[in-house]
Amino acid sequence: MADKSFNAFTMAQAQFDKTADQIALDEGTRELLRNPMREYSFTIPVRMDDGHIEVFRGFRVQHNDARGPGKGGIRFHPMETIDTVRALSMWMTWKCAVVDIPLGGSKGGVICDPHNLSAIEQEKICRGWIRQLAHDVGPLRDVPAPDVMTSAQHMLWMLDEYEVIYGAKYPGLITGKPVGMGGSLGRTEATGYGVIYTLREALKELDLKPSNCVASVQGFGNVAQYAIRLYNHLGGKVIAVACWDQNDQTSYTFKKKDGVDIDELLKITDRFGGIDKTKAPGLGYEVLPGEAWIEQDVEILIPAAMENQITAENVNKMSSKVKVIAEGANGPTTPEADAVISEKGIFIIPDFLANAGGVTCSYFEQVQCNMNYFWEKDEVLQKLDLKMTSAFKAVSELARKRKLYMRDAAYVIAINRVAQACKDRGWV
Ligand code: NAD
Repeated sequence: MADKSFNAFTMAQAQFDKTADQIALDEGTRELLRNPMREYSFTIPVRMDDGHIEVFRGFRVQHNDARGPGKGGIRFHPMETIDTVRALSMWMTWKCAVVDIPLGGSKGGVICDPHNLSAIEQEKICRGWIRQLAHDVGPLRDVPAPDVMTSAQHMLWMLDEYEVIYGAKYPGLITGKPVGMGGSLGRTEATGYGVIYTLREALKELDLKPSNCVASVQGFGNVAQYAIRLYNHLGGKVIAVACWDQNDQTSYTFKKKDGVDIDELLKITDRFGGIDKTKAPGLGYEVLPGEAWIEQDVEILIPAAMENQITAENVNKMSSKVKVIAEGANGPTTPEADAVISEKGIFIIPDFLANAGGVTCSYFEQVQCNMNYFWEKDEVLQKLDLKMTSAFKAVSELARKRKLYMRDAAYVIAINRVAQACKDRGWV
């Protein structure tokens, strides 16, 4: 479980400050970039199915749009806080900059639990959210997308409301739409595949082969499933996955020494990425405690579940065999654990580089919407591979040249690009 005292924004600012010191960023730019440019916090009154009015709180934070329109998802979560949204919007700025796409960083959310809301109530929240922000988001301003507990359906309700307000079609308003309604082929695979494109390049640099490197993965949702699939396709083996059990909402590690079989596991997995632990032993899986994924004798760790998972408490439980950590999740490693990983000389592919495949494909979706012409899946994935590979190479080259930790090198590139855009615009 995420620690309640953990504040994602404090962590995001600490990471920023570290790089700002390294690159001797001037005071004005530092002040501008360590805080969001704009924040919206608003109420969304909804008449619930039983007739009473419930008032939800919504957020949108636009961290920086010097390089292009803001980009970032909308999360529906009962524990959502403005600080989490601030942190995520800042990470979006660095993510778009490190893969060099012409977009800035934003994030949004609503404090609510979709598990307890009917479809009609969720639709009203979506329409209410976009009504509050119709003048402050848009294809050339700030482009939302799905995120935790929001889906293509939520995006379509928002798009529809926006188009009613403006009386015209704006498919570029929002990404993550269904294919056939302005969505891009390849988006479902994009984040997980992106993780593996960067991992493939890291292994090449370390002179290792997927066929000789075994991986352990935390998470079995969208990112993890496609990451495992592509890693298998490259000849690599994944021996453990950790995720929630479908029934008791506790995490477990499901281990199979010969390698997990993704299609077999999917048969006992629900749509939230939870595995049914009562059925796993029948398929030959050992069921271990949730934390066991990090203690496996493997060369590769892929945290792809949630933030704050590799911590000071468990980082030393990692096997000495671990050579690469590819961060599929956002913010899975705390700064304390990060220092230990750096000290051990483990090659890390930092979150905002490793999991940038999703936003890169969302950018492709916008481009295709603007052209009103859609590419085949192979073309999307080919372009994605090119973008991810060249972003990875730029970061690893800088890391090598200046003897930087990979996360630091990625921050240096991203922050320098955004700072330069702010300077070029005459903001600082
Ligand atoms: P998802 O909801 O599809 O899957 C999450 C998985 O993590 C599930 O298998 C769940 O059981 C597991 N999980 C949750 N808490 C856990 C815990 N404490 N211990 C073990 N397992 C746990 O989510 P996703 O889309 O795969 O996203 C995973 C991570 O990647 C998140 O941090 C998300 O912000 C990040 N991310 C996702 C995308 C994307 O395109 N989906 C893009 C960038 C970053």
